[in-house]
Amino acid sequence: MNKQMHNVANTFDEAPPAADDPVLLAQASQRALEITRSLQTSLDPTRLIEVFSMEVGALIEHQGIRYRNIDLDLDVKLGRQARHSCTYTLNLGDEPLGKLSLRRNRKFSAGEMEVLEQLLCSLLYPLRNALLYQDALQLAQKDPLTGICNRAALDETMQREISHARRQDSSYALLILDIDHFKKVNDKYGHIVGDCALKAVANIIDTCKRDGDLLFRYGGEEFVVLMRDTDLDGSHLLAERIRSAFETTACTCSGADLEIRVSIGVSVLQENDSPVSLFARADQALYNAKRNGRNQVCVATPTEEN
Ligand code: GH3
Ligand code: MG
Ligand code: MG
Repeated sequence: MNKQMHNVANTFDEAPPAADDPVLLAQASQRALEITRSLQTSLDPTRLIEVFSMEVGALIEHQGIRYRNIDLDLDVKLGRQARHSCTYTLNLGDEPLGKLSLRRNRKFSAGEMEVLEQLLCSLLYPLRNALLYQDALQLAQKDPLTGICNRAALDETMQREISHARRQDSSYALLILDIDHFKKVNDKYGHIVGDCALKAVANIIDTCKRDGDLLFRYGGEEFVVLMRDTDLDGSHLLAERIRSAFETTACTCSGADLEIRVSIGVSVLQENDSPVSLFARADQALYNAKRNGRNQVCVATPTEEN
């Protein structure tokens, strides 16, 4: 196995570490086998770090563990902060796997770090597999053209978000945006310019939405924004901000100046809503916006609901 682990941030600020412990080293190779077995049970990086921490804890006492992987936007923190840390950059060949730190209030001895390095070997392959799996999951939820989340991600997120809003007893809103007469853009300028326009539209919505709002490409030229803690007035305001941004933002694709206009339907979560009924009301409101002349926002009013 080709491995590299660099001890990049040991904080030794007291007496020199204790001498190597041969008994500990012997126990480590046995423990490494057990760790390999335990780590084969999950493809969830958080679970792997949790299991690794538990297994390592039998030989190297620690209060906290942290695993970071910037590429996959992972930051797993378990246990507590402590005065001393022992950090390793994990690589499998030339494949970077992130950084792992153990923390405790007593400093780590050279012997313990030797043991830890031995145990870390059993983490590398399971971690690499889990990261590949996570990467595939994330890719499956991304729209390749615009880079934003796709419909599969929307279906999953809506379930979770609605349950969360219910538990918190908070308001929740959804908007569906559809580009007006988009077919004409394709017909006049071709699909490459059309694709470029779709990316620009995703960008404009992204700059208008608030940090906590979630943006998805639902289908061809339809986008959805999920809004936490947002009532009817708030969602109407945001939808109007997005709509009017298209009137003031230049959209230039391959030298063509496009006049993009959008219609938006908005709905707010009601007591007996499912993701499907919440979405259906926004869709109906969008239909009304189109029917009333386009380039406008329509809100599903309580009278239209149910
Ligand atoms: P309306 O105002 O009623 O929404 O009219 P529209 O022309 O926007 O609506 P329609 O549903 O008739 O057409 C949507 C068009 O979006 C059809 C298709 O050519 C285009 N479209 C869908 N997905 C893509 C894509 O990924 N790239 C490009 N370039 N065009 C797409
Ligand atoms: Mg459409
Ligand atoms: Mg359209």
